[in-house]
Amino acid sequence: MTERVYNFSAGPAMLPVEVLEEAQRDLLGMPGIGMSVLEMSHRSKTVVAIMESAEDDIRKLAGVPSNYRMLFLSGGASLQFSMVPMNLLPANGRADYVVSGSFAKLALQEAQKLGQINVAASTESQGFVRVPYQEELTLDPEAAYVHITTNNTIYGTEWQTEPDVNGVPLIADASSNIFSKPIDISKYGLIYAGAQKNLGVAGVALVLIRDDLLPSIPDGLPAMLDYNVQIKAKSAHNTPPVFSIYVLGLVVKWLQQQGGLEQVARNNQEKAQPLYDAIDSGEFYRGHALLDHRSLTNVTFRLPSEELEQQFVVEADAAGLMDLKGHRSVGGIRASIYNAFPPAGVESLVSFMKEFERTHG
Ligand code: PMP
Repeated sequence: MTERVYNFSAGPAMLPVEVLEEAQRDLLGMPGIGMSVLEMSHRSKTVVAIMESAEDDIRKLAGVPSNYRMLFLSGGASLQFSMVPMNLLPANGRADYVVSGSFAKLALQEAQKLGQINVAASTESQGFVRVPYQEELTLDPEAAYVHITTNNTIYGTEWQTEPDVNGVPLIADASSNIFSKPIDISKYGLIYAGAQKNLGVAGVALVLIRDDLLPSIPDGLPAMLDYNVQIKAKSAHNTPPVFSIYVLGLVVKWLQQQGGLEQVARNNQEKAQPLYDAIDSGEFYRGHALLDHRSLTNVTFRLPSEELEQQFVVEADAAGLMDLKGHRSVGGIRASIYNAFPPAGVESLVSFMKEFERTHG
């Protein structure tokens, strides 16, 4: 096998080797079909079955209640920034947005183009070191929905529990922590996530939407952007991103084989802990996020100087620990360790950090 490095990229990110091998085996021809999934009509029995079993498997894995519809859409999570308000914010209605990081802000900016939006809370002035506390939320009881970002990819912060939004539909961008732990879908009106971090490859976003939100979607939306149209067409109003959905299906099966989401959460906890312990072990490394807001999937930290941070990234890269440079808006180091990231990669990073501190500290 080609030697594989540890890739700490924030996404697209590492996939399970088993998934890559299966996709590779199927690439010239699916067993008994004689052609690859890349070449098949999206109306073929095989592709329809791939999409149906991806949906069934997600329902089982995450316990998706039967009153939720599931969509596999193009345009990434970013298109959902627009589709959510287009579909769910009525003319003259209002929505609440919680700003806890860069993508939350982008979601807000798209919604502001379409209607009246209240910023229910923002932690920007604190440098996004945490998500807002419940008591900081200024919620509008008349809001059509409240939008949150469950995990802030760039800052490495995560909501530990859902905020209480007084029965208003809660909408979540869960792109960077979806299925990294159990999720109570019934607390949300709609959840969306680009697949390329925890669920597979770029090209598809998973959307779960509660039935009762569908009747008030306005008529006359552009068809591709209308949840009702996409639901009726089973995500195939046009040619869907078949290969991305196929890989998503393989990843979901792999998550099931890990023992389901409870076990995946334990694995992710055990994987992240040594890294946070290494950050907390002295003065050299300094975590960006406040303790109770730390993300299990994106671990962000600083070194004593920017020069040392640059040096760290270069030396780590040479040691096969790739893509550790933090996002330009935070600086420092970011280790993204999504579901498929192997624990051995974190152990290597921790050893590297100890050695780096010994030689540069
Ligand atoms: N939301 C979050 C939390 C993200 O991390 C990202 C991508 N890094 C996006 C949205 C945008 O996703 P996409 O590229 O799929 O549009």
